[in-house]
Amino acid sequence: MNLIFLGPPGAGKGTQAKRLSEQLGIPQISTGDMLREAKAEGTQLGKKAEKFMSAGQLVPDDVVIAIIEERIKKADCQKGFILDGFPRTVPQAIALDKILKNSVLRIDSVINFRVEDPTLVARLSGRRLCASCGRGYHINFAPSKQVGVCDFCGGNLIQRSDDHEATITERLKVYNQQTAPLIAYYDQAGLLRDINGDDEVVVIYQKILGAIQ
Ligand code: AMP
Repeated sequence: MNLIFLGPPGAGKGTQAKRLSEQLGIPQISTGDMLREAKAEGTQLGKKAEKFMSAGQLVPDDVVIAIIEERIKKADCQKGFILDGFPRTVPQAIALDKILKNSVLRIDSVINFRVEDPTLVARLSGRRLCASCGRGYHINFAPSKQVGVCDFCGGNLIQRSDDHEATITERLKVYNQQTAPLIAYYDQAGLLRDINGDDEVVVIYQKILGAIQ
């Protein structure tokens, strides 16, 4: 099954994609994670992406399209994949259509997570990640037992640099201007499945399972 998870930052795409990826045994392909890894490794790609990411802007289309084209060719995508955070612009969606056409793959469904802006801001600004194991927390909704320390590995909890309030506002603006047009794009293609993303994680997961059946 080949899926796209579409929605604003903080909508829960990553959390749900991780669960579904484990259940279906197909990879979660997050361009955000791939860019953050490149940044941490200090590669040319990471250096190029960094200035856009820290400003809450999108990394140029040609850069992310090249990353996805290479990733989708890998053997583990043969059984399916979940695209988490790609495409984010109409040109990226058009490029993806071309890439898939050349490899006789197709998208089965696009899950569109709907969440209101105030909820997104509350989720993103309180989000914390373990610097060692990557596990996610929230200072109000899913706090660690000890402030700033991962319950599982004892690592330090950190805040993503783009989860500070000024950058969040910019990311939401960018989403509305550049990514939201994809809702109509995939609706016209008959692939869109709308999900109310303002609910418990387990409830949303059940809705996703229902939508992809
Ligand atoms: P995410 O982890 O999905 O919220 O992505 C973090 C940041 O990575 C975004 O704010 C963008 O700067 C960049 N990014 C991730 N995916 C894309 C994409 N498909 N197109 C452009 N930039 C992206």
